[in-house]
Amino acid sequence: QKNPCDDLTGVSAEEIEKRKKLAYVTKTPIPDSHCSNCTLYLPPAKDKPCGGCMLFKGPVRPEGYCAYWAPISN
Ligand code: SF4
Repeated sequence: QKNPCDDLTGVSAEEIEKRKKLAYVTKTPIPDSHCSNCTLYLPPAKDKPCGGCMLFKGPVRPEGYCAYWAPISN
């Protein structure tokens, strides 16, 4: 079963290249650091399954991770 948040249909090659350069992965190797607790994460819009990232276009998994992870400051 494919995760809909891994579907990059309609995302430009340039934007796909950006996520590669940041070393985005769909599953974080660090349990306490993941997209959904990153300050650059964009939570899913209402009725949408996937979030996004301020650094590139296209769907992002809450449990993903990249080299630019930064904690949400309270
Ligand atoms: Fe996820 Fe990286 Fe974007 Fe943070 S900067 S939301 S860790 S892809």
